[in-house]
Amino acid sequence: MAVQRTFSIIKPDATNRNLTGAINAKFEAAGLRIVAQKRIHLTKAQAGEFYAVHKERPFYDELCEFMSSAPIVAQVLEGEDAIAKNREVMGATNPAEAADGTIRKEFALSIGENSVHGSDAAETAAVEIAYFFSGLELVG
Ligand code: GDP
Repeated sequence: MAVQRTFSIIKPDATNRNLTGAINAKFEAAGLRIVAQKRIHLTKAQAGEFYAVHKERPFYDELCEFMSSAPIVAQVLEGEDAIAKNREVMGATNPAEAADGTIRKEFALSIGENSVHGSDAAETAAVEIAYFFSGLELVG
């Protein structure tokens, strides 16, 4: 296993409910190190660009509205096998299907308002990190 970096977002439903610290505690307990983090409020256009891969999906407009409805916390997580490990800690997209102890099982409100985003592969992680952070902001 290699040390990897992955991109994470704490979504508006979670920042609204003051869950940033509780979610960060889950990452850190799993051995993921937060090497960059910033709280920002995306415009709908910025959310749309980030989620462009989902443009044709029926929930795209709802997703962009939601992601720009309140602040998010954008993060870079680092650790052994960080991409897969983060997906494990997050749990399934639909909280009804998420395993016990996962972030989405504990905190998500619905399949759309599901508290966290995490990159699904090394290529997407690199693109997503670069969309939000400069190299100088990654402090391992
Ligand atoms: P993820 O990788 O687990 O985040 O899941 P996807 O890449 O499939 O979807 C991206 C995001 O779109 C999810 O995290 C949800 O916020 C949202 N989403 C996915 N499916 C649905 C859906 O059926 N309805 C709504 N409203 N949002 C959805």
